[in-house]
Amino acid sequence: MLTADRTRTQDASARRQEAAAAKAAKPSLLEPGLVESWLAGRGHSAFRGKQIRRRIFRDRLDDASRWTELPERLRAEIVAELRIFPFDVEEHRVASDGTEKLLLRLDDGHLVETVLMREQGRRTVCVSTQVGCAMGCVFCASGLLGVTRSLTAAEILGQVLAADRLLGDGERITNVVVMGIGEPLANLKNLVPVLRAMTDHHGCAIGARKITVSTIGLPKKIDEFSALDLPLSLAISLHAPNDELRTRIVPTNKGTGLDAILAAADRYVAKTGRRVTYEYVLLAGVNDAAETAHELGRLLKGRLGHVNLIPMNDVRESGLSAPGSPATHRFAEIVRGYGIVTTTRKRKGADIDAACGQLRLDRVRREAGPPVVALDATSASAPV
Ligand code: SAH
Repeated sequence: MLTADRTRTQDASARRQEAAAAKAAKPSLLEPGLVESWLAGRGHSAFRGKQIRRRIFRDRLDDASRWTELPERLRAEIVAELRIFPFDVEEHRVASDGTEKLLLRLDDGHLVETVLMREQGRRTVCVSTQVGCAMGCVFCASGLLGVTRSLTAAEILGQVLAADRLLGDGERITNVVVMGIGEPLANLKNLVPVLRAMTDHHGCAIGARKITVSTIGLPKKIDEFSALDLPLSLAISLHAPNDELRTRIVPTNKGTGLDAILAAADRYVAKTGRRVTYEYVLLAGVNDAAETAHELGRLLKGRLGHVNLIPMNDVRESGLSAPGSPATHRFAEIVRGYGIVTTTRKRKGADIDAACGQLRLDRVRREAGPPVVALDATSASAPV
């Protein structure tokens, strides 16, 4: 049984490697600047770039052989040499509340997740920015295996388009939250061109204000983000009102500290005039006490920002859980008492493991199979 399992896993991984090798030769049209340099390199006019972009972003027509306004030779070259999506959809789940989740297989075999959420009038995509995460927040599934690498710009932008392709004819992606797997500001270099493509009128044409980047709080990177010439929204994952508690929940806080994070947030406000969202994942018995709510209120009082309380989504291996709704309600009321707008996030897609990173984590563990030692022992006694 174990041997058969291993053979299947080897077959699957060999197939994946072959497919990856075949595709690796074909760059993605979504990579920043690629269309322009590719067209120039083959002696085509630059205005073809606009036509290509229109087909991909506006018309959602992914088959380049049908881009009939392009000369036939150019279409054939595109089909032979380029592709749009730098990943395959490995799994697609739909929750009872309409939330959809894509598990994406990147060319090098790694997995990331993208979520599409539907609310009245709003279609929000949640994108990942890294394979795994280095931050190690104790309640989060994404950080349990550490970080492998950052995503390329095409891999991030491709997620927005992949979610867009799930929508009906009259629907469009209206909002983007950069809150999937990974720490976005640790991959700001690749994220910035994506933010530009998302807001570009010839690209996704999404309003910058409707794009929210969520960070654990990297002060220097927050300053770089604030300096961008786009009115993007900033969310900071606070989770605690003092360093002692925050470091227990967010290990990287040890080297940063709340003061530096809040100072960077204040500079964002001064520079942009926009309010910051302070995210606070409520963990029963850890950061949900009445006194902690008062401390949070005192810390944020007078700052231009609001608090978004997030009841924790279950992550099996964390041993932590969300408090019930009375405790959540009481916490919110106390913070509101300090004049701070406080909302509680609605749970989405709970029945499809929409908790950030859970689907990927389960799949990675399954593919890794039993420990190597056990496999070797089996193959020694039962040759393949
Ligand atoms: N690294 C970034 C962005 C990814 S996490 C950050 O920390 O902000 C996006 C948000 O989801 C963060 O506020 C994070 O704390 C929250 N989150 C992660 N795991 C969660 C879980 N199990 N339940 C509820 N919220 C979670």
